[in-house]
Amino acid sequence: MAEQASTYRTNGDNGDEGNTDGEHNEWKHRAPYKVHDNDPDFHARYEASCHCGKVCYQLSREKPLDSKYCHCTTCQKLHGAPFQWAAIFHKEDINFTQGHHDLGWYESADKTTVHKLPCKVSCAYCRTPIMDEGRNMILLFPTLINFKSPEDRKNFEPSCHMFYPRRILDINDGKPKWSGINNDSELIEDSPEQDKKRKREEDAKKPTDEKE
Ligand SMILES: [Zn+2]
Ligand SMILES: [Zn+2]
Repeated sequence: MAEQASTYRTNGDNGDEGNTDGEHNEWKHRAPYKVHDNDPDFHARYEASCHCGKVCYQLSREKPLDSKYCHCTTCQKLHGAPFQWAAIFHKEDINFTQGHHDLGWYESADKTTVHKLPCKVSCAYCRTPIMDEGRNMILLFPTLINFKSPEDRKNFEPSCHMFYPRRILDINDGKPKWSGINNDSELIEDSPEQDKKRKREEDAKKPTDEKE
């Protein structure tokens, strides 16, 4: 794996590379793009790849910090799908074994393809969406992971739905449904009663200046 990664590293020196030069070029030298070559502390738990196979990565963490469905219209448009499934990881949890310099960026606020956080990251060749890179975390798309068992897939079970009012279809799975970002909006529709009650109690405890 280590050798594959180093032979692939030259691939970034073409194509869109001009967009990531200068002050935007520092991404190559830090997580999540830094390659964990010969790192005894990095144990690959999952393997993942884009559709064409140019971009491959490993994950060291057993379970994501959280996993969610997002029904916002930006996700619908950028994914060409009714909703998005994303799992949150630390930037140090991922190790690109191939193609980590063969990525495309898109920052939706400025509509720019330079590497500006938070941004969407995709394979520059087949355009498979790989992850959303935030300032501190990554939200990767688990559909790229080659799960070896139903139990492994269960580790990525989403905890809730976000931006549910924008949905294309109803999903009556009994999971909490947030009107916007989870924990920072209203619980609606088919949300479990105990979650609604917990949210009301948490809101009541918040100092008034933190309320909307
Ligand atoms: Zn690809
Ligand atoms: Zn979204």
